[in-house]
Amino acid sequence: MQGFILRVTKVKNEDLIVNVLTTRHLFTLYRFYGARHSTINLGYKIDFEVEYEPGYLPKLRHVTHLGFAWLRDLQKHLIWQRFITLLYAHLREFEEVDDFYFSMLDRLAKKLTRQEPRRACIEEYVRLLEFEGRLHTHMQCFLCDKEVHEPALARAFLPAHAHCIGKEPFAKQKIDYLFRYKDTQFLDDGEVERLWQTLQEGF
Ligand SMILES: [Zn+2]
Repeated sequence: MQGFILRVTKVKNEDLIVNVLTTRHLFTLYRFYGARHSTINLGYKIDFEVEYEPGYLPKLRHVTHLGFAWLRDLQKHLIWQRFITLLYAHLREFEEVDDFYFSMLDRLAKKLTRQEPRRACIEEYVRLLEFEGRLHTHMQCFLCDKEVHEPALARAFLPAHAHCIGKEPFAKQKIDYLFRYKDTQFLDDGEVERLWQTLQEGF
């Protein structure tokens, strides 16, 4: 089956614990140190098999790295890994997951071929918020409950007054468009950077 490596933890003797997201599961698997060690890296999409043995963590076997051309682009690679790390922190409690998350990473990986990586991540993150019912399209400040005309965005892109959270605001139409169409085209690079910083506060 196919999956994305969401986390890699070194254990004794260079062995690894690897968390792999598939369409249905977030697996925690054991990987013995071996010659094909290099196919295991945070964010890699892999084809693999799981070997079960009673009393032990299931083993990650027969791994093939399904590479992306953009992995050689250091900036894209680092931003992808950052997004993956945030996603793992978000999903870590679950063993069974909706296929939304796998599909989201698949779509994001394709978008990274052409698109600026922070923009691609922000657009997919807005989709995630919508999927989870956490996207606040109604511009009301989560702190004072009053309407917001120029939203500043807190963690999880929660709208608020600039003065209520001490952050710089955005033009409302730009955020409306982003939330509605999952599209960053009307945001300038500085605004995209601010959204990327907010996204990194955690999913
Ligand atoms: Zn307020």
